[in-house]
Amino acid sequence: MSILKKLMVMGVFTIFFGSASMAYAAGGGGVIPTDPTNHFHPKGKVPSRYTVELQNQWRKTLPFDDQRDFEEQKKGFIAAPDYKQIKAEAGHVAWDMGSYEWLLDGKDFDSIHPSLQRQAILNMNYGLYEVAPGIYQVRGFDLANISFIRGDTGWIVFDPLTAKETAKAALDFVNEKLGERPVVAVVYSHSHADHFGGVRGVVDEADVRSGKVKVIAPVGFMDHAVSENVYAGNAMSRRLFFQYGVLLPRSPFGHVDQSIGKNTAAGNLGLIPPNVIIKKDFETLTVDGVRMEFQNTPGTEAPAEMNTWFPDFNAFWAAENIVATIHNIYTLRGALVRDALEWSKQINVALYKYGRQAEVMFASHSWPRWGNERIQEVMRAQRDTYAHLNNGVLHLANQGVTINQVHNVYEVPKSLQQQWTARSYHGSVAHNSRAVINRYLGYWDGNPTTLIPLSPEDSAPLYVEMMGGADKIIAKGQELYDQGQYRHAQEILNKLVYAEPQNQEAKDLLADVFEQIGYQQESPSVRNSFLAAAYELRSGIPEGASPKSTGPDMIRAMTTELWLDFLGVRLDSRKAGGKAFTINLATPDNGEQFAVELSNGTLTNIEGFQADDADLTITIDRADLEATMMGAVSFDEQIASGKAKLNGSRQVYEDLKTMLVHFDLGFEMMPGTGARDLTPEEKPFQQEQPADTSGG
Ligand SMILES: [Zn+2]
Repeated sequence: MSILKKLMVMGVFTIFFGSASMAYAAGGGGVIPTDPTNHFHPKGKVPSRYTVELQNQWRKTLPFDDQRDFEEQKKGFIAAPDYKQIKAEAGHVAWDMGSYEWLLDGKDFDSIHPSLQRQAILNMNYGLYEVAPGIYQVRGFDLANISFIRGDTGWIVFDPLTAKETAKAALDFVNEKLGERPVVAVVYSHSHADHFGGVRGVVDEADVRSGKVKVIAPVGFMDHAVSENVYAGNAMSRRLFFQYGVLLPRSPFGHVDQSIGKNTAAGNLGLIPPNVIIKKDFETLTVDGVRMEFQNTPGTEAPAEMNTWFPDFNAFWAAENIVATIHNIYTLRGALVRDALEWSKQINVALYKYGRQAEVMFASHSWPRWGNERIQEVMRAQRDTYAHLNNGVLHLANQGVTINQVHNVYEVPKSLQQQWTARSYHGSVAHNSRAVINRYLGYWDGNPTTLIPLSPEDSAPLYVEMMGGADKIIAKGQELYDQGQYRHAQEILNKLVYAEPQNQEAKDLLADVFEQIGYQQESPSVRNSFLAAAYELRSGIPEGASPKSTGPDMIRAMTTELWLDFLGVRLDSRKAGGKAFTINLATPDNGEQFAVELSNGTLTNIEGFQADDADLTITIDRADLEATMMGAVSFDEQIASGKAKLNGSRQVYEDLKTMLVHFDLGFEMMPGTGARDLTPEEKPFQQEQPADTSGG
């Protein structure tokens, strides 16, 4: 393929099911609107009376009379553009706010948790807003906000979105409404793609290289922008289908929101390396007359992240550390588990250092908070929620509650439950509480039965046999479904689906169960996961992906060591069995050297060394190697053109080539949904695009 696996994930998928021949696209890309009053899937079900009853309970018990978020969300509105769609350079729709307009009809949807529907409406923010005189935000152009600080001569841009196209549209709109000014600096608040990917829409790389434009980032930014999502990249990309509901139509029965914004944009993702790195815990810079104090907050929402205090504005920029949701301690797409206690402590530092005098707090998602009392209220609520998550879960763990129980036991304190800013949209209380135990104690619950369990497909047939076969399980599953006992129903139906992956009746009933559980979720990540699984159980993994274009920046930002590490992941040990060799690799233009060894079916590398007795020495400039990593020129072609020089046994190189596997995005998540070949063949030494980290 070209280079576009990641973009297929965010891409436009057109799906046809059965005779209905309904065609639509979903995910981050262009969307054919669906009728909000009708389910988009022929097998889809409306919310059951149990689901409706639960939603009604929430309507009575949550603090819906606290309307302050709606006032803050609207405050400072300047203008909205006269368009709702932003086109990508490749021609497709990169962004479409119009596809969610049904949320503004004033209707309560019983297929959406009322708290989530509220958040989904708040995230319909669209256009240019004044945060304070001289500080502006464009919201609703991408998953994140893009912020503009007016300096003496130009704009300082905080967090230039995911896509070049959406960032450029935002800058154009700001210049149109507030007067044309050059961008003099860009600040990346952290290492997730929705905060840097659109940088090429606001600055030229040449101006960054010459130092004319400053690009400022927290320490560790470049490493984490790339490495966090390479090693398990293909699995993460596939799991995004679930967490982000990439294939779900935008509908009350499908995708409604993504907690920190509507969705991710499907445009051109790039990365210009920063030329100013903030290394100390606190560092002050004046750029274009604007004084900024940066607070590094590593180990919070991202491994490299920083807040910013603007003393001349009494304004505090909370990056993605404080937004209008409790965030992911564990991200369902897959990521290292985060540290809830450290996150809470960094909010506390910000509260004591800046929060006591701040008059406005704004962030890379959601809407600002004004007035010192309100700011302190929000900071304390978030500080306490993360701290309690850590402390409360460990309190239970120290009394023997395990990772397989804690989500049914742990409760957020009642006073926090009644504060909107402490609700858990992005990270659910369920998956975050399990994550805390995972961080400290790992996945094992201490019962030897679960230490080396059978794989589910191996244990399921025994259960099905002992339960008396498929018919009995389906009858009981239907009974439980009819009683609204959905989590009980999934226990037994899941066993049947594993034992009989071709049993469509079982898959359809499990899909019905998943759907009701999905409708009942406050967290869109959890909702999407259930609804996407239901979708695949009913229709299989869709085919027909139209990938988007992306720039080569993410590959260029990968070190040679990381590329070699990933060759080790791609190595098929069975093909390597019995073989052993050593390769010296040198890239003269940047002076790097590596010794690469294949032994014991394992490929390792070490930087800064050369083996004395290498079977083969490969010499190629890093600049040329990048062309191969990007898939533009194959390694064979590099050899033929003389750009790669081989000294020693060419056979070693030929052997290695045949041992490398390319991962396909179309692997099954649920049994019997039909693995599909979604990733066209790549050149042997081409590097796959890292997974998208948008949204943390
Ligand atoms: Zn973000």
